Amino acid sequence: MSCQGESFLDRSHLDKLGRSRQARSASQRVAPVEATRAPTVYDSRVSNLEKEPHELALADTPASTSGVDILEPREVPLGGPRAMTVRRTLPQRSRSLIGAWCFVDHYGPETTRMTVPPHPHTGLQTVSWLFSGDIEHRDSVGSQATVRPGELNLMTAGHGIAHSEVSSEQPTLLHGAQLWVALPDSARDTQPFFENVAASTVDVAGGRLEVFIGSLAGASSPARVFSPLLGAQLSVDAGASVALDIDPSFEHGVLVDSGDVTVNGTSVAPTHLAYVDAGHDRLEITAGTDGARVLIIGGTPFGEQIVMWWNFIGRTHDEIVRYRDDWQTEVIAGGNAHGRFGTVDYDGAALPAPELPGIRLKPRG
Ligand code: MN
Repeated sequence: MSCQGESFLDRSHLDKLGRSRQARSASQRVAPVEATRAPTVYDSRVSNLEKEPHELALADTPASTSGVDILEPREVPLGGPRAMTVRRTLPQRSRSLIGAWCFVDHYGPETTRMTVPPHPHTGLQTVSWLFSGDIEHRDSVGSQATVRPGELNLMTAGHGIAHSEVSSEQPTLLHGAQLWVALPDSARDTQPFFENVAASTVDVAGGRLEVFIGSLAGASSPARVFSPLLGAQLSVDAGASVALDIDPSFEHGVLVDSGDVTVNGTSVAPTHLAYVDAGHDRLEITAGTDGARVLIIGGTPFGEQIVMWWNFIGRTHDEIVRYRDDWQTEVIAGGNAHGRFGTVDYDGAALPAPELPGIRLKPRG
């Protein structure tokens, strides 16, 4: 899926965040919260489109005493002729990264067609995971694959790749998540490649796990990642509680797809993302009478600053400018079918990049 030029400058969003952060800051002065959260360096927006610098000083979100923070989604229209609206929980102003996970879009269930024309990526991996429906993926290294429930489609963009994502000819019930993983500096210039990997499933007391990245509860995925990372779907039986031993060096996120859920005792609404600090060795997820389905992501705090704009991840403003120029020159203007991004076998035009904001992008994270 494509970021579709979404910017952080949406006024109502900024105003809302500004207010809630000011309120939080005021309460902090009265009653300081014990420092149970990750270091500030991991806790800020990735693309600095800031016009009001005073807000930066307020960007810290303290963990609640339970060590669980709630990240609320915001609706982002993807645009285009067959538009879908997704619920984005990462990145946001209070948090850029959970491990190397840097982007979480959740969508559906919605009977629709998804049509995302060819668009580029750099410096990241795209993770496509479906609860229902199917999406055909094509990319510029020649891959053609269908994303289906229970299977991971993992595209490593590295130096540069382009892909399209199109659902069936007929409208179908689409329900799933699109996530991105930031590549560490040592791997971000790697040659692009694509994997389709069946999840590794395991029954646990109170539910069932499908591990698509990393290892959990004895199940492991062979999918190739470049930093310590976890991605899994957990189904919790009605009224049950699932206790998972987790790596205390990881921070975790729990995205609630459905059900009345508590995460380590904190209630988390459907479509919300619970953030759990590093330092915990147990994740306890409890479902109400209808059962629940969640996605669990995790990883060691990324520890690198990144610049994320549109569908690119780099380290500097100038890198992002170069990626954009390469895409516009090679693909949109048709200057080089075998350049950084190559060519996708697709019947239609590629997505042009939006204009860059009139300020320099600063690394965050
Ligand atoms: Mn994409």
